[in-house]
Amino acid sequence: MNAFDVSKLLSHRTAAVEEAAIIRMAQRARDLRARGRDVISLILGEPDFDTPMHIQAAATEAMRNGYTHYAPVAGIPQLREAVARKLEKENGLHYSPAEIVLANGAKQAVTNAMFATVDAGDEAIFLAPFWVAYEGILRMAGGVPVILGSEISNHFKIEPRQIEAAITPKTKLLLINSPNNPSGAVYSRHELEAIARVIAAHPQLLVISDEIYEYISYGEPLTSFAALPGMQERTITINGFSKAFAMTGWRLGYAAAPEPLARAMAKVQGTFTAGANAFVQHAAVAALAGGREDVMKMREIYRHRRAIVMEELGHLRGVEVMEPQGTFYAFPDVSHWLARHSGIGTVEQFCDWLLDEHGLALVPGSAFGNDRCVRLSFAASEVDLKTGLARLAAALG
Ligand code: PLP
Repeated sequence: MNAFDVSKLLSHRTAAVEEAAIIRMAQRARDLRARGRDVISLILGEPDFDTPMHIQAAATEAMRNGYTHYAPVAGIPQLREAVARKLEKENGLHYSPAEIVLANGAKQAVTNAMFATVDAGDEAIFLAPFWVAYEGILRMAGGVPVILGSEISNHFKIEPRQIEAAITPKTKLLLINSPNNPSGAVYSRHELEAIARVIAAHPQLLVISDEIYEYISYGEPLTSFAALPGMQERTITINGFSKAFAMTGWRLGYAAAPEPLARAMAKVQGTFTAGANAFVQHAAVAALAGGREDVMKMREIYRHRRAIVMEELGHLRGVEVMEPQGTFYAFPDVSHWLARHSGIGTVEQFCDWLLDEHGLALVPGSAFGNDRCVRLSFAASEVDLKTGLARLAAALG
């Protein structure tokens, strides 16, 4: 009799999604540390700051006031209103509270958006490099990614004509993430307008605009894609609290979209889970109502660290780097260095070698659809950052 093998019983859906390289690298770094190795990790995409105290206090108070029960699926009315007001004031977007859906993180908001719009075989255009989670979510929803590449030579930006050429009758979604994880690229209003002109000619096409790094932008204020003429009716704006307010563990994000879409997203969320955590939603009302001093303070610290990263990477031979205009990531191109060193042929091998031989953990760009670059997060203490950069410099010799 054959032995029972439960792994043969897993769904095709889960088998179609690969374990993210970030998770694999982070686990390898943890394993090495557990064995006593000194490892600097510049992997994680989360603020290394504590959530501001007034937000923590609001959560505690909400708990004491009994907000420990199920919340409405699409979110508590006060927060839906607060998000609508925020989008009006800061982004020039006019949404009613009924068009806002709170979710357990922006990641779930993206999941809701994809499951609400994608049928089996529908295509979604991703602009590489792109946040790795989009692909797994899309595949689980039955969709097919169509990946357009950009390189450091064009500042990691996609030309509108590339998008135009990729659109087919099956294209349902275009994913835009600006400021971009992992490249740090920020599309200007002018560049977004050119993309919008392409979109406008294709009535079957919706846009997901992931603006989660909105406040971590070092130049001109972000243009929300939905603010462009004619785009709000076909855009799902995604944002959240994780990066802006250092609230990654609280799990709260949101989507804003025309009401039929908002209702469909709430239906998806109500099917898979429930409303986001009730007392966290109350704390988020306080986060939005408060000033942006904490947010700006964090951004200025990231700006300072960015200068440290640019100074150090700028000196490395065989490494090309673009100054990120947003986010807390640098995405240096190491392909020239790889070409000169036999034995380390790919960015995955490069990252494995850096970790094993030099105690530095980075993420290979292949995890984001780019096989020439590596991602370095500067959401790390200055001491760790400087030590990590020194290790990189020593490794590249
Ligand atoms: N969107 C992008 C581009 C991200 O990089 C991340 C997190 O790394 C998220 C969304 C997820 O945010 P949340 O923590 O709110 O789920």
